[in-house]
Amino acid sequence: MTPPPMGNSAAARDIASVLHPYTDLKAHQETGPLVITRGKGVRVYDDQGKEYIETVAGLWCAALGFDNERLVQAAVRQMRALPFYHGFTGRSHEPMIQLAEMLLERAPAAHGGRMSKVFFANSGSEANDTAIKMIWYANNAWGRPQKKKIIGRVRGYHGITIAAASVTGQAANHKAFDVPLPGFIHTMCPTYYHAGLPGETEEAFSARCAEELEKLILAEGPETIAAMFAEPIQGAGGVVVPPRGYFPAIQKVLRKYDILLVADEVICGFGRTGNYWGSQTYDIEPDILVCAKALSSSYLPISAVMVNERVFEALATKSHEIGTFGHGFTYSGHPVPAAVAIETLKIYDEIDIVGHVREVGAHFQAELRRRFHEHPLVGEVRGIGLIGAVELVEDREARRNFDPARKVGAKLVKIAEAHGLICRAMVLDSIGFSPPLIITKPEIDEMLDRFGRALDELAVQIR
Ligand code: PLP
Repeated sequence: MTPPPMGNSAAARDIASVLHPYTDLKAHQETGPLVITRGKGVRVYDDQGKEYIETVAGLWCAALGFDNERLVQAAVRQMRALPFYHGFTGRSHEPMIQLAEMLLERAPAAHGGRMSKVFFANSGSEANDTAIKMIWYANNAWGRPQKKKIIGRVRGYHGITIAAASVTGQAANHKAFDVPLPGFIHTMCPTYYHAGLPGETEEAFSARCAEELEKLILAEGPETIAAMFAEPIQGAGGVVVPPRGYFPAIQKVLRKYDILLVADEVICGFGRTGNYWGSQTYDIEPDILVCAKALSSSYLPISAVMVNERVFEALATKSHEIGTFGHGFTYSGHPVPAAVAIETLKIYDEIDIVGHVREVGAHFQAELRRRFHEHPLVGEVRGIGLIGAVELVEDREARRNFDPARKVGAKLVKIAEAHGLICRAMVLDSIGFSPPLIITKPEIDEMLDRFGRALDELAVQIR
């Protein structure tokens, strides 16, 4: 363990002052932070000048890397033109209008046709809380006040505000926080690797997932269930790729009981899976779509909730009856992040982000499998496009993970750091990859070279 930093260093000041998100707060008092000072392309540098490849683009988000000057200039221009305005009581401004138009133009097919309108928030969590409130509001408009329960999935991640954390299906987000709230329920995680039965095809497994969902709906009462939230690929839950036929099977069940589907595209949106939307990769036609992160390449906080015509009509009718749609953030559609998002989407078009991800993503997926599939510590290699994971196991044959108390994933992250790699360990020691979308083939090779060295070193340390 690194000794606690002394004196007036950034690390010592951090320990003395910062309460960190997603950190063992007690251990942090001993271990201290990794202080990052700058970035260039897919790399970041710490306060000692050490260079790292960012294998997860920060938090699956800095899609254009860490030094895009056009995004900086877009922010500066907008700061000068109009540094703040809002959308309350029908006020508007050009960046909010243009960004909404651009998102609707690019939106995937929606249930019942196309996406109709866009609401802006600042984070994925806020956007998901917004979607939940919209769903409750719409069901009140539709005269079915009892149809309010929300289904999430085990290992799903939708954020940490109270409602979003309730849809999230991960223990660390629930334990000691007194969530999930009543009315939030979870269906099984579609992990074929762990939950598929011997001899069961992916399609048969998908059908079983859909049956499980239907059983849950029937047990609760379909008249009480409003919506289901799903990430096209479960990201923070360990990059769980849906088995073949999963979403069509799930959607069939949801439609049978008039349950809305929210596609949480906070990670999968904007090319990550090799299509503009994960919904296109996995045949999802959502009623509501939530996006954030790569929307602005995360240079400034902004998220969006797109709703289809049916949902919009319900919101419009009810708000007219009440006199206002009583929901909105001071910074909803803030002009500066909106301007940065517009520039981001323009860049994606210019560099053909989808074409690029398809090309380098094929290389990334092939190399990830070629290099690590047979590694003694690796149970499964999975992913698509520029998102992937390597799951570490103690027993490859039995698909048995390491005892979580051994913190094998966290050990690997620490070793990888020494090899110039910032990695992310998740549940069941799944090491996620979600590099900046601009990554090149040589950079992918360099990233995987370093990862391979770290993995081999881990093997020596833990055996
Ligand atoms: N939804 C998904 C799929 C996410 O991956 C995340 C964050 O990682 C969120 C929602 C929450 O977003 P935020 O951290 O911006 O609140």
